[in-house]
Amino acid sequence: MSEDCIFCKIINGEFGTEFVYENEHLVVFNDINPKAPVHMLVVPRVHVASLNELEDKNLMGELLMGVKKAAEKAGLKSYRTQINTGKEAGQEVSHLHIHVMGRK
Ligand code: 5GP
Ligand code: ZN
Repeated sequence: MSEDCIFCKIINGEFGTEFVYENEHLVVFNDINPKAPVHMLVVPRVHVASLNELEDKNLMGELLMGVKKAAEKAGLKSYRTQINTGKEAGQEVSHLHIHVMGRK
């Protein structure tokens, strides 16, 4: 938990964000500014600032299983995934997340 992290606040339920899917490792919610008809974010419950700070390789496996689950829940058979790492690459929120984008 990082006190000034918006995704940590979402995970803590501070904004009442609806989760598409959740389990002990991660939550999935819709992007507030969707860049595709379906645009979800798969976010670990633990605060990891970016892929560069990742130490737990098992967490990445859990996140990818979360991607699959979220796609199933959203009725996506086909989708694109994206991880932005670092400001110059377009990372706006410093809490690791996987974008899942597709159309129904
Ligand atoms: P990044 O650019 O860091 O890879 O992606 C951050 C994403 O989080 C952006 O697509 C942005 O629209 C989304 N986002 C930022 N703040 C919020 C928020 O408060 N709620 C939700 N649902 N999405 C957010
Ligand atoms: Zn965080």
